[in-house]
Amino acid sequence: MTRTPLRVPGLLMAVMLAAAIGCERSGPSTVSPSAASPVTPSATDAPASSDAATAGDKVVKTDAEWKKQLTAQQYYVLREKGTERPFANEYWDNHAEGTYICAACGQPLYSSDAKFKSGTGWPSFWAPVDRMAIDTETDRSLFFAPRTELLCSRCGGHLGHVFDDGPKPTGMRHCINSAALRFVPKDTPPADAGPAVK
Ligand code: FE
Repeated sequence: MTRTPLRVPGLLMAVMLAAAIGCERSGPSTVSPSAASPVTPSATDAPASSDAATAGDKVVKTDAEWKKQLTAQQYYVLREKGTERPFANEYWDNHAEGTYICAACGQPLYSSDAKFKSGTGWPSFWAPVDRMAIDTETDRSLFFAPRTELLCSRCGGHLGHVFDDGPKPTGMRHCINSAALRFVPKDTPPADAGPAVK
């Protein structure tokens, strides 16, 4: 009786490697959930352009409801934990001042004040506007490189991952999918910012 060695199909391996490298800048790097969402005083200013409710108000919807509300790309990222292509997403090179809110529930997540050029091709922030806006989970989808996943604390939508190779003052890099965000330019009247919850 002969044994056939376990073989990983080439395409599968390529996809896994791409996903692992995708949001990485300097090799696999993980942080503990407790260190995943640092907040500094300068990063906690509440945006004036959104009237989203506090993180305590959970938004719970069925998959069918999310599918009806979100675009296909938003659903893929937010509800199926997908990753969009680098350098081919809406906000990776956006330098305008304003607030990035959750594309699903409208909760303010990141400020342009904390956005920095990471070179990864995804929007990158060194802190959220409020650490209570972000939940973290250990993502073991890549068996060789566990990562810390970032989720919107209000609706549970997948945002991206956090790494400890960011710039000062926190040293953290929140690598976020543009499809999970909606940018609200500074000084946008609340009435034009769209509904906080759809
Ligand atoms: Fe959300």
